[in-house]
Amino acid sequence: MSFDSLGLRPELLRAVHEQGYETPTPVQAQAIPLILQGRDLMAGAQTGTGKTAAFTLPMLHRLAPHANASPSPARHPIRALVLTPTRELAMQVEESVRTYGKYLPLRSTTIFGGVNINPQTAVLQKGVEILVATPGRLLDHHQQGHLHFGNLEFLVLDEADRMLDMGFIPDIRRILALLPSSRQNILCSATFSGEIRDLAASLLKNPASVDVAPRNSAASLIRQVILPVDRDRKRELLSYLIKMRPMEQVLVFTRTKHGANHLASQLEKDGIPCAAIHGNKSQPQRIKALEDFKAGTIKVLVATDIAARGLDIDQLPHVVNFELPHVPEDYVHRIGRTGRAGSEGEAMSLVCVDEQKLMKDIEKLLKKELPRLVIPGFEPDPTIKAEPIVTGRGNRGRSPRPTTASRGFKSPHERTTVKGGAQHTRMSSRGK
Ligand code: AMP
Repeated sequence: MSFDSLGLRPELLRAVHEQGYETPTPVQAQAIPLILQGRDLMAGAQTGTGKTAAFTLPMLHRLAPHANASPSPARHPIRALVLTPTRELAMQVEESVRTYGKYLPLRSTTIFGGVNINPQTAVLQKGVEILVATPGRLLDHHQQGHLHFGNLEFLVLDEADRMLDMGFIPDIRRILALLPSSRQNILCSATFSGEIRDLAASLLKNPASVDVAPRNSAASLIRQVILPVDRDRKRELLSYLIKMRPMEQVLVFTRTKHGANHLASQLEKDGIPCAAIHGNKSQPQRIKALEDFKAGTIKVLVATDIAARGLDIDQLPHVVNFELPHVPEDYVHRIGRTGRAGSEGEAMSLVCVDEQKLMKDIEKLLKKELPRLVIPGFEPDPTIKAEPIVTGRGNRGRSPRPTTASRGFKSPHERTTVKGGAQHTRMSSRGK
């Protein structure tokens, strides 16, 4: 199948061809015709499947008829809203909107927390058709009277499962109440829990559904391997692998922000240029780290799960789990950063004796055993006993990630970045 047979406008096809894409990915082939028909859609697809273009292209097609180059803000009302859980994802989605929409006179912008609100307000006042936003900052702008949704035709909830994890569903429901009821809706999610289905039921009207990410399946182009190693020799092994293989562009996951910082500074000492990216880093710091990583100035990006979610880095060849996640589903999300859109990838997990149970849980979820590879010189010492895993806040024990309910709808950023009073808590839960 080619893009030309999907019914998209020539301006869009031209932009797609310029990207060098010849064949639609499965989610694009299935979703684009349905969205062009005006159907609401529930799309089961994770990052790496081409899901962004799957909703962006038909959205632009449907907005194109009233696109205009008038300088008047009144001629550019908000017609499409894309909600994302993180600022990084918001930026990436809007980049896609610009890329695919470059031959159409439609305006777009992003709004997210953690940065000065005024420049965002200035852009909104000039008028934009497509708004890509994180929920909290969107509500802040609405409260300040900067947003009018009377002309909204199109709503996308991207990575709804992550929105749920991050405690954003109450904000989403507040936003839905502000929108006109007659509109087309798309909900994208890699996984479908009962809560996501409830949200879908209240949001979507007679939806079509496409599912290219069967729950908890890991993309088959990813080679997965477990490297057994002692707890205290993980950093040494990682440096060895990066230098000896050698590996360029490695995304390394740690469980905690402290762990990410610590590992990044250790790798720097080993002569490996790297940066850490997590919820305590400012927005400019995160953008700089991502740009340096994409440009190849730094080889290694050390990230926590939340920070890495939705990062769009073309052809990322290596993902390393320096520590296994507490939640097995996060493993699937992590390794989904590699092997994207048909390219091959490799996911290595450095697993010590403390993490045996976490590994077993992951294999149970994947419904397969992963190959073990002992690196000569790093054979685990069988006399070392398992110890409880220390979590980020100094607690001992394998505490699972708190549920949305148990943490009172606070986002993970809020839990870690906020030291002040209630006012700060509310602000940081918004759009960070
Ligand atoms: P996404 O799942 O939207 O994050 O997209 C994953 C990656 O696949 C992005 O880097 C896109 O640029 C790329 N991509 C999207 N559609 C296609 C396509 N039809 N052919 C090749 N690559 C694509």
